[in-house]
Amino acid sequence: MKVRLFEIFTSIEGEGIFYGTKTLFVRLAGCPFSCFYCDTVPALPIDSGNEYSINDACKLIDSKLKNKTYKVNFTGGEPLMQHEAVLELAKHVKLKNIPTYLESSCFDFGRFVSLMPYMDYIKIEFKTLDSKFVEPKNYDHILKNELMCLQNSIQLKKKSYIKILISSYTTKLEFDKLLDAIFSISCINNISGFVLQPVYGSGAPNLNKLLQFYDLVYTYYKEVRVIPQLHKFIDVP
Ligand code: SF4
Repeated sequence: MKVRLFEIFTSIEGEGIFYGTKTLFVRLAGCPFSCFYCDTVPALPIDSGNEYSINDACKLIDSKLKNKTYKVNFTGGEPLMQHEAVLELAKHVKLKNIPTYLESSCFDFGRFVSLMPYMDYIKIEFKTLDSKFVEPKNYDHILKNELMCLQNSIQLKKKSYIKILISSYTTKLEFDKLLDAIFSISCINNISGFVLQPVYGSGAPNLNKLLQFYDLVYTYYKEVRVIPQLHKFIDVP
């Protein structure tokens, strides 16, 4: 089996509930989506980056692991595109007793479930339709998969949290619909966080919109946070 890695590096988490913590990032090549705010566009083609055997990729991970690296983050692109390879790499990391972290849009429940035995932390990135990540006709199918992944992750007692990008185009109507779907999950109170991440640059939301959307989530879940990407403010990858 082969794997295409776009890059692998140690840095500081710039998003989500692990903001500011030290991590080895394993960025998988390939993503089937086209979010207008994507900041990893060069990693979207499945033939981007470099190809490795699983054995060589494990050696690369070992060589890049620095002292006191507290977790390994499988990100992308979209890691579920190469789920079989991610499973092998995560297994390798778990043998070292280092926690593993999956950042995914969770577009495929079957692929997601296959990784669960080897993942500790899960970020599920829900998308609103305005992100243009898929054709509108495919949106409901992907959302259904995302919801099943969230439910499964919580039931398995993974440290699970939700992230949603907010742009100036995100409508209250659409956001409300998404929240209704998310908070209809029975075990939803066991999530470990709900992060609203403002889009940066063109399409950035204003403060009023962020506050309005914060209040909408707060109605359901008090620990909601608005967290901008650290990497837009300090010069690290
Ligand atoms: S799902 Fe993530 S990696 Fe894929 S296009 Fe959207 S933001 Fe970029």
